[in-house]
Amino acid sequence: MTAIPRRERVASLAAARLEKTVSADAVRHNLGVLRAAAGGRRVMAVVKGDAYGFGAPDLARLLVDARVDALAVDTVAQGAELREVGIEVPILVMDVDVADNAAACARHRLMPAVATAEQVRRHGAVLRDRGGAPATVWLRTNVGFNRFGPREDEGFGAVLDALHEARDAVRPAGVFAHLSSAGRDEGETAAQADAFRARLASTRAVLGPRVVASLAATHGLLHPDALRGTDWVRPGLGLYGLLQADDRVRATPAGARLDGLRPAVSVRARVLDVVTVTRSEGFGYDRSASVAPGRRLGSVAIGFSHGLAGSAAAPRGLLRGRSCAMVGRPGMDCTQFDVTDVPGGARPGDWMTFIGPEHEGGGPARTARDLGAELGLSLYELLATLRMPVRVEDSRPRRDGIEAFED
Ligand SMILES: *Cc1c(COP(=O)(O)O)cnc(C)c1O
Repeated sequence: MTAIPRRERVASLAAARLEKTVSADAVRHNLGVLRAAAGGRRVMAVVKGDAYGFGAPDLARLLVDARVDALAVDTVAQGAELREVGIEVPILVMDVDVADNAAACARHRLMPAVATAEQVRRHGAVLRDRGGAPATVWLRTNVGFNRFGPREDEGFGAVLDALHEARDAVRPAGVFAHLSSAGRDEGETAAQADAFRARLASTRAVLGPRVVASLAATHGLLHPDALRGTDWVRPGLGLYGLLQADDRVRATPAGARLDGLRPAVSVRARVLDVVTVTRSEGFGYDRSASVAPGRRLGSVAIGFSHGLAGSAAAPRGLLRGRSCAMVGRPGMDCTQFDVTDVPGGARPGDWMTFIGPEHEGGGPARTARDLGAELGLSLYELLATLRMPVRVEDSRPRRDGIEAFED
């Protein structure tokens, strides 16, 4: 008997009841829209958090095939995973990782972000031990997010001095920062962009004019201020056609540059059984959900183990054009929805849609924003929280070599 590779076995068992789909065509299209909005700047696609929950190896391969210039992750482990599946483009580790991972970072040829003099010395020591040409690092500075990097300019000078001293082992190729309020606050974003340009000038004064700069992530592309004077952009969320931005900012001339983004994500689960309520009684644990006689409840193959969690959560699913409310609380792998008013009645095997169009080519749709609002989650939290088998839908034939990574 031939053993079935684990991933394939899991996917083939689980995909029949529940799936999250990402459209490769839409991701490629969105990369093009983001690239055009970036006006010739190079694009470093952010695939942290397992590519926002869609599977970093598959998404990285797709983006590299679509000629992305570099990739960015949060941790050395995420970068190492991409190297292990044969991804060769430059990879930036954006969140400053713990010092113990400096050697692994060098071994996998990842570009670490450094934010303190101590981190510069640590990477310098590791790289000196290894020998060879100086390795590339990026300097992370803080212009208002206040999570990494010196808060005040005083500490920044010490990092520049450390980089200058470590130049035999460490090559500071770029400086970057993360905006805290892009897509929502134009005044704050302009102020942070100004602070960044000042930081860039002092960096170049110490380390030379060739140091490049990156400020805008997806929502920075909505602000001309956040692009001015920079060489790279770092979009993540926009690759999936999603924006967490105010309508007011979207309506600006710069905002319109992202109008072409196309939703790339859908989530659906099967109805497993339909229970008709015949008398007044409670449902679920402790029989705490009360449902009127005559209602029909569909037991649907999605639960809190897939991310449908939270006591305040009130998710809805779409079945044959009808929006169905959750009844009671989610279960581990199954949750009940009121399917009484579904045209033609709900049947076991039907697909209930949580994100996406219900039918090919039209009909009602549910957006990621709808489900996020119902669960009280941002779009970022939503994508990372929905844990279930992922299907990459691609109209192009799979390239040779991809198959090999899955064994
Ligand atoms: C997450 C992240 C990005 C990408 O942000 P999006 O809003 O998803 O485009 C870029 N840079 C840094 C430092 C990040 O943490």
